[in-house]
Amino acid sequence: MMINITLPDGSLKQMPKGSTAYDVAMEISEGLARNVLAAKVNGEVVDASRAINEDASLQLFTWNDTEGKAAMWHSSAHLMAEAIEQLYPGVKFGIGPDVENGFYYDIDFMDYSISESDLEKIEKRMLELAKEKQVLIRREVSKKEALDFFTKKGDEYKLELINDLEDGSITFYQSGTFTDLCRGPHMMHTGPIKAVKLLNIAGAYWRGDEKRKQLTRIYGITFPKKKELTAYLELLEEAKKRDHRKIGKELELFAFSDKVGKGLPLWLPKGAMLRERLENFLKKVQKRYGYQPVITPHIGQKELYVTSGHYAKYGEDSFQPIHTPAEGEEFLLKPMNCPHHCEIYRNKPHSYKDLPIRYAEFGTVYRYEQSGELHGLTRVRGFTQDDAHIFCMPSQVKDEFKKVMDIIELIFSALDFNDVTVQISLRDPNNKEKYIGTDENWALAENAIKEVAEERGIPAIIEYGEAAFYGPKMDFMVKDAIGRKWQLGTIQVDYNLPERFELEYIGADNEKHRPVMIHRAPFGSMERFVAVLIEHCAGNFPLWLTPDQVIILPISEKYQKYAEKVLTLLENADIRAQIDDRSEKTGRKIRDAEMKKIPYMLIVGEKEEEINTVSIRKHKEGDLGTKSISDFIADIIEETENIYK
Ligand SMILES: [Zn+2]
Ligand SMILES: [Zn+2]
Repeated sequence: MMINITLPDGSLKQMPKGSTAYDVAMEISEGLARNVLAAKVNGEVVDASRAINEDASLQLFTWNDTEGKAAMWHSSAHLMAEAIEQLYPGVKFGIGPDVENGFYYDIDFMDYSISESDLEKIEKRMLELAKEKQVLIRREVSKKEALDFFTKKGDEYKLELINDLEDGSITFYQSGTFTDLCRGPHMMHTGPIKAVKLLNIAGAYWRGDEKRKQLTRIYGITFPKKKELTAYLELLEEAKKRDHRKIGKELELFAFSDKVGKGLPLWLPKGAMLRERLENFLKKVQKRYGYQPVITPHIGQKELYVTSGHYAKYGEDSFQPIHTPAEGEEFLLKPMNCPHHCEIYRNKPHSYKDLPIRYAEFGTVYRYEQSGELHGLTRVRGFTQDDAHIFCMPSQVKDEFKKVMDIIELIFSALDFNDVTVQISLRDPNNKEKYIGTDENWALAENAIKEVAEERGIPAIIEYGEAAFYGPKMDFMVKDAIGRKWQLGTIQVDYNLPERFELEYIGADNEKHRPVMIHRAPFGSMERFVAVLIEHCAGNFPLWLTPDQVIILPISEKYQKYAEKVLTLLENADIRAQIDDRSEKTGRKIRDAEMKKIPYMLIVGEKEEEINTVSIRKHKEGDLGTKSISDFIADIIEETENIYK
């Protein structure tokens, strides 16, 4: 019996029934077969060794695919568990999934004590086991069989997991001496694992519940080549140097205080001024694009968020309502600015001639993140969105999208993010009843988004079924200087809030209509954006943004007066400058200025004073020669004004 296998390029392969993805790969080339780590058969990712019994579409995954990496890392979690079980007999296992970069396993080490220094021993054992090319054998088991196995083994964590599963859906995977409850998929055997690094140990409550036992979570990563591990460790080292928490402290940009509260950033003067410059930049651009500023309070009545639907989403799991002396009165810290802006729209009647209306606010919102999730400025409990809401007619969505894209592109170019991609989230075309809003409006908005991305030539990934129930959206991803991807700004179309708040405009037909609402935040939030920016530029901010643009270095006390004259001229031109008037050698002053990442150093002495010039050094570049003060000022102004073009 033969079956038809359709490959992604549309080509067809006839294979005997029961062939595996691996067999199909062998038909194509032996090299490909060697590298196959998993496969997608009729839309489901499975082991490459699974028999295919019907006509199927097939996609093969190697190390170059996310799914291939996931299969290898997930299999590596099994490998680590096997090594650990051999080294520490009797330990019990929680869960061991693959993650974005590697894998982890949560383990109850019972009476053993385990620390970072034990990891090398486990890595070594893992590599020995990997070399055995242990086959990961899948077996379907009944619930009873599964319970019997782990009762006998004495692993209450696995028993608890099995109890939550349906009989008939349970599978075991065995590799070497280790058998695990697992759905898969896995790689076929452990042979391709050629490099192992266990990265760290952390505590993790069983099932994320603080009332239950704390297990030991060991994170690791594996690679098919040693040199890939070396490159990855170098990247980690580089990332550590760029960690925004470290640089933020060194440059005195922000701080946290347990007394104020976890996850509530305190912007220090230099950080606050930097943030203000970012805000002013965006305000200036937004003004050009017809945005109007609004300001709304940090709290709102509970009913406001019940109307918007945010209470259902954030009410239970976030900051609890604020009570007042008045009976039954409740306020919420705002988790979103949108409801306030809807009420501003409702403040007066609108005609189609008024649209689009664009309300912008740097609005601070509060959401209660779990303390374990908090991380520097990227995950906080209070943050300021560079928020705006556009109210427009359905026919205006495309034009508005274009304008928002203009703004976002201007921002990315002003901050040297040069590798930008977008993800477009659309409706699931087979499940349209899930979404609110008319078919016609969805089609209009979805086509508009796709067309705008295409017209701009921005690489776009289209995800069907990823749209929110209330509208399609576009997310912006940037690649930073060391190749990491970050999600920043978003544009979101919304048919829901205008409905809930009964927003209206009078059309050309003199009838009442619902406007479409577009939420957009190019930075996302000021906190997250500044964090990503710091890690991208390693604290070497663009000239227009950096806290100190210029430092004047008089070569001796004798030239202090002249240095002050230069400083006054710079300050009059709104250039941020200071004098290093310490009685240190010039070489030392230059080194210190380099450490502080100040872009321009102006060295002044007798020669400079005589003819009203400055000797210029640029951060990381060195000597740029001598210029008159006015020429230097003109250059700086030009360099900083360039961002608006
Ligand atoms: Zn598994
Ligand atoms: Zn919004």
